[in-house]
Amino acid sequence: MILLSIRNLSKTFSSAGEPVHVLRGVDLDLRAGERVALTGESGSGKSTLLHLIAGLDAADGGSIRLEDVEVTKLSDAGRAELRRDRIGLVFQQFNLIPSLSVADNLAFQARIAGRHDAAWSEELAERLGLGGLLKRYPEQLSGGQQQRVAIGRALATKPSLLLADEPTGNLDEDTAEDVLALTRDLVARTGCGFLMVTHSLHLAGTLDRHLTLHAGRIA
Ligand code: ADP
Ligand code: MG
Repeated sequence: MILLSIRNLSKTFSSAGEPVHVLRGVDLDLRAGERVALTGESGSGKSTLLHLIAGLDAADGGSIRLEDVEVTKLSDAGRAELRRDRIGLVFQQFNLIPSLSVADNLAFQARIAGRHDAAWSEELAERLGLGGLLKRYPEQLSGGQQQRVAIGRALATKPSLLLADEPTGNLDEDTAEDVLALTRDLVARTGCGFLMVTHSLHLAGTLDRHLTLHAGRIA
């Protein structure tokens, strides 16, 4: 089953009055349960593509379809709803809430979405090796532990699609491998799709498929 289908997607920014054509006709299909890596030079538009899929920004042309939703036809409010209900987001900066415990950070997004499931949160915490850390605060965690919380938080809502923008960029090589291995397993467990931007060709090679963005298209 095709989960995400992108056709002829374009996005242009203007920089000092000059148009910068970042995406020039991106085509991409991702199946449910599929785990795909996206690489490309710095500035090639990887983050822009993820932002458009997540509805954080609007495309100029083309279409993005996630399950039965035409993301490119949604209003700003519709895109926010889509993000809340169907998409999990993980960034290089872990973006945890410093004043909340690990347990509350894990549950934060799911509570906002009105779909907190205590049993699932508990399972996520166990699978991510966070069971003994639930009462701690983000500043008391290592980088790898913080990113595991961020991944758990994103998956706690049971999203259809997990999007990660260089999620291991702030981690050392061994920690990056561990975090990604846990993420791969969890994605398989939930059956959601996974699209990860990474600089690491090695990590990209551990997913089901590896795509490269070049000159505004998937090469
Ligand atoms: P990557 O993630 O592959 O490094 P980005 O998607 O962040 O690349 O950026 C692609 C290009 O688009 C860059 O030239 C960047 O400067 C430009 N860009 C990204 N976001 C904006 C924006 N909001 N306004 C203007 N230019 C932008
Ligand atoms: Mg980027």
